[in-house]
This record gives sequence, structure tokens and C-alpha cells, in this order.
Amino acid sequence: MNHLMPALFVGHGSPMNALGNNLYAKTLRELGETLPRPKSILMISAHWQTEGTCLLDVENPEMIYDFSGFPPELSLIQYPALGSPDLAKRIMSLVSFSQVKLTSQWGFDHGAWAVLKHLYPQADIPVLPLSLNRGWSLREHYSFAQNLKELRKQGILVLASGNITHNLRQILWEEDASPFSWAQEFDMAIRDAISQWDIETLLGGNKISPTLWKMAHPTLEHYIPLLYVMAVAEKGEQISFAHELIQNGSMSMRNVLIS
Ligand code: ZN
Repeated sequence: MNHLMPALFVGHGSPMNALGNNLYAKTLRELGETLPRPKSILMISAHWQTEGTCLLDVENPEMIYDFSGFPPELSLIQYPALGSPDLAKRIMSLVSFSQVKLTSQWGFDHGAWAVLKHLYPQADIPVLPLSLNRGWSLREHYSFAQNLKELRKQGILVLASGNITHNLRQILWEEDASPFSWAQEFDMAIRDAISQWDIETLLGGNKISPTLWKMAHPTLEHYIPLLYVMAVAEKGEQISFAHELIQNGSMSMRNVLIS
């Protein structure tokens, strides 16, 4: 499988992680240095949800500071990578046209730049954002994303950014607060499902109770990006978790690398 580009899911957590003074950021920097260098990056961020599925058709994506209440230095961060209208057109040919549309109405949101900044600090690889279709079930996201497998043969990194647990009503102030048991339980259940290639559980099957799902994800947008990485992987590929801490008591920062 060495000819395939890896696929990577990264937990992004609080925008404060963009400042990079922690083990999480160090792990991402090391990953960026050791992964094969991609020709371009297909970026799936929890923070871009749309009616239908969209690809960003612009040469120079703008920065989007989609948060408030954080130190002003966060809103000064730039990530000047190019977009990739070419890749957008190639993807249009892999999926049916009715499934995806091109738009110029987005840029790099913090789910994208806060991760890219550590992985590829030079910002010298083109990045194409793909949105999450608000109307789709987990299974629909997974089936759609299976069409994108081909990209890995073309040297494109499928990079997804969300969190395996994400409940903003259950956030503790201290980054290293001890984790809530529900967060650990959900994170480990998903880790096991990934390791055992248990796609049904990842798609909401009954191994994890509805109550635990609701606690870990009052809304599912931070979970869904994980499905894009699993959908472009093949059973039997190597799966590793470069980082698996829980921040702020409730936010799983687990990374999932398929290689
Ligand atoms: Zn987020």
C-alpha cells in the first residue's frame, strides 16, 4: 500500500491549539515532517457545512476567523496556501455532478488553518476545502466519500479535521483537566471500532448507546470528518493514533492516521 498517500483525521479542539505550545502541536509538526509530501490536500473541516456538498473554487482562499472570545493574536494568523481549482475539477469527475457544486463563498476556517499551520507550516502545498452536506446521514457521507479513494493514488492527502468527542456545554477551562468518563468511554469505543474496522459502529450502529452519542456529539459536524478518512481507507491498512489526549475534560484530540 506504499504507493497510496496516507489519510489523516486530526482533532482540532479549541482555537488556542493554533498557538502551538503543546504536545498536540508538536505531534502534528512531526507528522508533517515524516509523512510523504502530498501534491495537494483535500481538506474536510467540521466548520464548513452547506446545503449540498461544495468545493472551494478559488486560487487564493481567504482566512476565516470563525470564533470569538479568544486572544486577538489568533485572528492575526495567516495561512497563505493556494487553493486548487484544478483538483476541484478532477473531483467533479470522480463523483456525479449532481452531488457536488463549486463555490467561491468560503476560505480556510479555523478547523482547517489551525491544523495546517502545524502540519505544513510553509503553506506551500495547495489546499482544497470540501464542505459537509448538512442534509446527509452518516451513511450518506461515508458512501459519498468512498468515491474519493482514487485521490490517494494521485498523491493527494485526504485531511479531515473535527473531534471524536465535542460537547461545548461540557468544556472545562483547564486544557489538561481530567477527562469526563463519558468522553473517555466514547473516545475508546470509537478507537476500538476504527481498530476493528467496525464500520457499522462508526456509522451509529447500536454498540454505542444513543445517550452516549448525544453526550459526545449534541450535533454531529465534528464527528463526520472522521468518516471521510475511514471511507478512503481499505480494510487491512495500517491504522495509528499519533495523539490521543482529551483536552478540557471533554474534547478528544485523537488523531487517526491511515497509511
Ligand atoms: Zn471545531
